Amino acid sequence: MPDETKTGCCCSGDERNDGSEPLKRLGWHEYFMSVAQLISRRATCTRGHIGAVIVRDHNILSTGYNGAPSGLPHCNDSNCHIYRSTHPDGTVEENCVNTIHAEINAIAQAAKHGISIKDSDIYITASPCIHCLKVLINVGIKTIYYDKPYKIEHIDELLRLSGIRLVQVTMCNQKD
Ligand SMILES: [Zn+2]
Ligand SMILES: [Zn+2]
Repeated sequence: MPDETKTGCCCSGDERNDGSEPLKRLGWHEYFMSVAQLISRRATCTRGHIGAVIVRDHNILSTGYNGAPSGLPHCNDSNCHIYRSTHPDGTVEENCVNTIHAEINAIAQAAKHGISIKDSDIYITASPCIHCLKVLINVGIKTIYYDKPYKIEHIDELLRLSGIRLVQVTMCNQKD
């Protein structure tokens, strides 16, 4: 399979299942983002459902979704506990105190099983918050691929200073 480095809609439609609808082969970015979207359906925080997949050399190393720590009550059973914080630009943000974000859970899963994630990439269904971005920088992630933007203005400076890449992946079949 040729190396797929460009982003955007990257599937090819040269096969057909019933002679009418093209059966599209997923490009690598769509492949991993589709996995991240599927994983997000395991999320338990009612504030939002996010999935993350850590990848190197087209292999999945680790996955995560947002939810409570193992063995603790999940938000969909108990309720979210929201706290507010104020960003230096004055905007007020709300987060759930119960929840570990998807990308941190993917990193935790790799650590638990002794899997090095240095020089890997991550696919996340939403761009990371500033706290997760700091951790992604320190574990050696090279490129962050995301689907939906989330407060990107808050991470602009950190992206510029760190050199970590942030790339949006546009899915072919997205309706919105
Ligand atoms: Zn929650
Ligand atoms: Zn986060």
